[in-house]
Amino acid sequence: MEKILNYINGELVPPASDMWLDNYNPAEGKVYNLIPDSDEKDIEKAVAAAKKAFPAWSELPTSERSDILLKIAEGIDREFESLAKAESDDNGKPLKLAKAVDIPRASSNIRFFATAILHFDSQAHQTDQQAINYTTRTPLGVVGCISPWNLPLYLFTWKIAPALAAGCTVVAKPSELTPMTAYLFSKICKEAGLPNGVLNVVHGLGGKAGQAIIEHPEVIAISFTGGTTTGKKIAATAAPMFKKLSLELGGKNPNIIFADADFDEAVSTSIHSSFSNQGEICLCGSRILVERSVYDRFVEEFVNRTRKLVVGDPTEEKTRVGALVSEAHMNKVLSYIELAKKEGGKVVTGGERVIVKGRCNAGYFVAPTIILGLDQQCRTNQEEIFGPVVTIMPFDKEEEVIEFANGTAYGLSATIWTENLKRAHRVAHQLKCGIVWVNCWLLRDLRTPFGGMKQSGVGREGGWEALRFFTEQKNICIKL
Ligand code: NAD
Repeated sequence: MEKILNYINGELVPPASDMWLDNYNPAEGKVYNLIPDSDEKDIEKAVAAAKKAFPAWSELPTSERSDILLKIAEGIDREFESLAKAESDDNGKPLKLAKAVDIPRASSNIRFFATAILHFDSQAHQTDQQAINYTTRTPLGVVGCISPWNLPLYLFTWKIAPALAAGCTVVAKPSELTPMTAYLFSKICKEAGLPNGVLNVVHGLGGKAGQAIIEHPEVIAISFTGGTTTGKKIAATAAPMFKKLSLELGGKNPNIIFADADFDEAVSTSIHSSFSNQGEICLCGSRILVERSVYDRFVEEFVNRTRKLVVGDPTEEKTRVGALVSEAHMNKVLSYIELAKKEGGKVVTGGERVIVKGRCNAGYFVAPTIILGLDQQCRTNQEEIFGPVVTIMPFDKEEEVIEFANGTAYGLSATIWTENLKRAHRVAHQLKCGIVWVNCWLLRDLRTPFGGMKQSGVGREGGWEALRFFTEQKNICIKL
């Protein structure tokens, strides 16, 4: 069986312990390769390589760092087909989605930061006739980047690209559930001529390899995307060490539909924002809040359209909903559906595991599920499920829907559907979340700050924010 290898100091190497973990193809429910069960020894080697590589990489002219990153982006484009297949095999997502979103966006991430760094500048301030201050920004050093399984290569590159562009060297760990694209990416980096040790990819479990990255004293900043509970643990370890932290965590995002919305667009985009990637996108709108006068019409249309979504083999063109990432995650999602029923919810479509005939008959598929009749306070409407499950609730007034929307511990994103411009601005300003989409969803401009409020995260990624995160500021004051 194929073994995925770590990428340390420019070499593809097995873990020091020679211990391996099973990697499942979730659409088949079968182990299809092995990944390193790395530990602190591997992290130690990776950090040492990153530390050694830092002086030369950080001092390389920006244009040369940029050129190497652009070669990596070209490598992603060249390996498009194999990366898309690996992303779908590892994660269970439709191959079509991996081709449309994950891989092109991974390449865009690298290109964006490869070119953004060429325009990154610092500031100068004249203090009356007394002094001139100028502020420098220098790369931090060795940083840790830890990413989740839902958009594997996309989120892996989202962290690594700004770190490398800024001149940091990196020890990165992809999710143990979806390691394959990061492995292929290591090979692309080698081919692109990335100097040894600049990027080190160590595979393995979060509590072991991941924790060793967080605890390592030479890793001075952590960029993490994953669950809120993991984020708390990471913050608890990293804060007393005064590490710089960027935490992108979970969400329970409201999708607000006012009666004056463009109905057809609201319905069709809500299908995407509810069930794309099996609902396993942190930005999915899992709580649909509909103004009462259009509630019945919305529910009828939305349920009908949802029932037509094809759940099936991720490699088939017609498939819209693939497999969930693991058996454990499928069981978690199914247990939330049971909880919703206990809480008085009515499952109007879906609600169960789907057995797909043929190659995928042992896969972890769950039917897109819509639940009605729950109140805002119940656990189903408070906790992140991260699967193809949405609730729909009616509302009467603008103030009420703002209260509902803000009424969870999370604050990642929200969508508002209305044709009333003033209301769109008014409501958007009152929502306590980091991203608000009006009459659209998942439209991304990489220059904009990305991140959540409350328990959805700390810090912002994207654009200059990411380059600022990976650099240290110093102000130099000269008396005139
Ligand atoms: P997770 O927190 O279980 O794991 C994320 C990563 O952290 C994995 O690589 C894992 O191995 C590692 N990890 C786990 N424990 C660790 C520890 N103690 N120390 C260091 N690393 C550790 O999350 P997941 O299940 O992979 O991903 C799903 C979650 O990610 C959802 O909550 C989702 O909302 C969130 N997410 C957030 C965003 C965002 O941008 N806000 C984007 C995608 C996913």
